[in-house]
Amino acid sequence: MGTRKKVQAFVRVRPTDDFAHEMIKYGEDNKSIDIHLKKDTRRGVVNNQQTDWSFKLDGVLHNASQDLVYETVAKDAVSQALDGYNGTIMCYGQTGAGKTYTMTGATENYKHRGILPRALQQVFRMIEERPTHAITVRVSYLEIYNENLFDLLSTLPYVGPSVTPMTIVENPQGIFIKGLSVHLTSQEEDAFSLLFEGETNRIIASHTMNKNSSRSHCIFTIYMEAHSRTLSDEKYITSKINLVDLAGSERLSKTGSEGRVLKEATYINKSLSFLEQAIIALGDQNRDHVPFRQSKLTHALKDSLGGNCNMVLLTNIYGEAAQLDETLSSLRFASRMKLVTTEPAINEKYDAERMVKNLEKELALLKQELAIHDSLSNRTLVNYDPMDEIQIAEINSQVRRYLEGTLDEIDIINLRQIQEVFNQFRVVLSQQEQEVESALRRKYTLIDKNDFAAISAVQKVELMDIEGNLVGEPDGQSFGLGVAPFSVKPGKKPKTKKTPKDQVSSSARKEGASSPVSGKDFDVASISKTQLIPSSKDGDLKDMLARERETSSIEPLISDSPKEELRAPRPSTPPSRTVAFEEFKNERGSEINRIFKENKSILNERKKRASETTQRINAIKQEIDETKDALNFQKSLREKQGEYENKGLMIIDEEEFLLILKLKDLKKQYRNEYQELRDLRAEIQYCQRLVDQCRHRLLMEFDIWYNESFMIPEDIQVALKLGSSIRPGMVPISRIVCLGEDDQDRFSHLQQTVLPEGPDSITFYNAKVKTDQKVTLDIHVCEGGGPEDFVIRILRTTNSIR
Ligand code: ADP
Ligand code: MG
Repeated sequence: MGTRKKVQAFVRVRPTDDFAHEMIKYGEDNKSIDIHLKKDTRRGVVNNQQTDWSFKLDGVLHNASQDLVYETVAKDAVSQALDGYNGTIMCYGQTGAGKTYTMTGATENYKHRGILPRALQQVFRMIEERPTHAITVRVSYLEIYNENLFDLLSTLPYVGPSVTPMTIVENPQGIFIKGLSVHLTSQEEDAFSLLFEGETNRIIASHTMNKNSSRSHCIFTIYMEAHSRTLSDEKYITSKINLVDLAGSERLSKTGSEGRVLKEATYINKSLSFLEQAIIALGDQNRDHVPFRQSKLTHALKDSLGGNCNMVLLTNIYGEAAQLDETLSSLRFASRMKLVTTEPAINEKYDAERMVKNLEKELALLKQELAIHDSLSNRTLVNYDPMDEIQIAEINSQVRRYLEGTLDEIDIINLRQIQEVFNQFRVVLSQQEQEVESALRRKYTLIDKNDFAAISAVQKVELMDIEGNLVGEPDGQSFGLGVAPFSVKPGKKPKTKKTPKDQVSSSARKEGASSPVSGKDFDVASISKTQLIPSSKDGDLKDMLARERETSSIEPLISDSPKEELRAPRPSTPPSRTVAFEEFKNERGSEINRIFKENKSILNERKKRASETTQRINAIKQEIDETKDALNFQKSLREKQGEYENKGLMIIDEEEFLLILKLKDLKKQYRNEYQELRDLRAEIQYCQRLVDQCRHRLLMEFDIWYNESFMIPEDIQVALKLGSSIRPGMVPISRIVCLGEDDQDRFSHLQQTVLPEGPDSITFYNAKVKTDQKVTLDIHVCEGGGPEDFVIRILRTTNSIR
């Protein structure tokens, strides 16, 4: 990207004998114009009419020759176009101020030729100076009249009449005008011919269509494309330079026109004011939308106004007093244009064909280089080509053997092979995952843990099981149902930081009522996606599930609503947590406790089986070793005694033969047992997770139940229940208790504790109680997650102490 720069704005004053010296003054550096207007005395002595203006510009051209104008205004932009920068040079001003004279010049006088022929000349001169590049030049000449597009070069014999009207098309490369003829010119003279052709057409059109040439915008475009003559260089640059002769900018009111002229004037006014809007938007750093599409002029110049191009505005003005109004308005336009910044950048492109050729060449070279390196380091026959199916299968088998332990290491050959090894690791891993899952599916029915209807149906089956004396059978075949807490949302990570619940239980521990189950279990809350239920036992399960879905009644394991059960009157002092936990397990939490115990017994049974299998494996291994030793002994005996050979076959005695058979058999047993152990381990891992989950749920439910049953006053429970789905038992006790304490209790408590300090202290503490009561308490409530999940505010009203 290039550096940012401002649009350049110049002013050219049309030569006149009647220059308004008193009104128009130039700055000393010739870069500003001051306008002074005499006060309109008709408006009275005191009026707020502005009479002085000052315009800062990049240069004022007064009595300047065409040559100087070109040097000042256009030369740099044209020269940069050859380096790949787009450029736009525009003439703006009222009719007759000299726009066409500046742009095209007098065609009959070489000295008075304008910017267009001079730009073409410069382009071809510079091309001659750059023999290292093949530069092509194309030109087009577009006229916009009453929002219609005309091709000023369509009269050339090889162009042919255009069938469809021209349209402006935007594509990633930029703007182009569909239907506009673009002409390749190999030399200066051809280019001039095209220019004159266009100028002639402009004049003819103005006669035949009875239109004034100053009522249309004309855009002459020179397109350049420079390819390096060095074949290896795949980069090339493209650029274009737009030379724009705008329609007269005088305002409608002044023309006092009607009919066709009025229509023209309206179009001109509109397109010039859209040009101005677009320019203002371009100048505003905070605007990201520029309304280019509002007129054909701005749309056609979209990629040439601002943006990445060099932009020059030349404002033509009259120097006479009579035209001062229009002059002022033209100068205002120029100063607004000067605010616009552009960021000229080279338009670099890549020649795809050349690029492919160059890459192929480089590839061949690198292959040779690699071959030399390989032969120098004695690495012969290394293949660097892409792998075929057989090679990939071989790598897959290597990876499998490596994972089984029968292959110690995988030799590194080249980068492609390393990548394939990793790839095959992934393949093998995903296959094994599928195998484990299907092994589990063969044994158990998996239920999606979010399918509450199914879970509920299964719970019913479980209850039936109790009646049918199936649960807890010593064969260990029944597998309990682990139910994830309903409050745990899927995908939510277990939080490691302390939740208020943890704080409560830790404070409870401090007070001596330690949690009945080991503390480390609190952190284990990994939730499995599916639930395990026995698949073999109950053929009616599917029917159960179906029926359950129809009624779709969901019964949680533990009833959440205290209203539903008959509550025993609350004891005045809460029981210790250990005692309460025993009670909880037998009553309210019996179901989850049963599942927990059941899962645990299954886990233990599997662990036992795994340890038995391990023992068997060790025994087999020992036997294998012994057999191997015996076999080696036999072998050494045979070698000592001299070997028998019959027709190339080794003759061995029966003892050795039997040993070989035994070894083979042992190895087979070893493999079978090993496979079983692997399956068991997978199962143990799975069961372990279920057990952890059940334990977590049990403890959580216990905490909630304990809080609700003994700790939280009933009125607070009611308050907390209002309009929220939070169970009161989830609220940290430390926050609840201070809320719930009855005023009278507090008072008597105070009296007890304070009185020993003397009766005077009562008023002090009285005041303190009153102040405390005004405090708003924020209660952070945790629901299956951190305290930030939601916040309940309870505002207490002040009650006077009785
Ligand atoms: P515009 O295109 O702005 O309507 P023109 O370029 O057609 O104005 O100029 C109107 C007339 O003024 C033409 O006859 C042109 O030759 C003459 N003219 C304009 N500027 C100059 C100049 N700088 N020197 C000499 N003649 C000029
Ligand atoms: Mg003109």
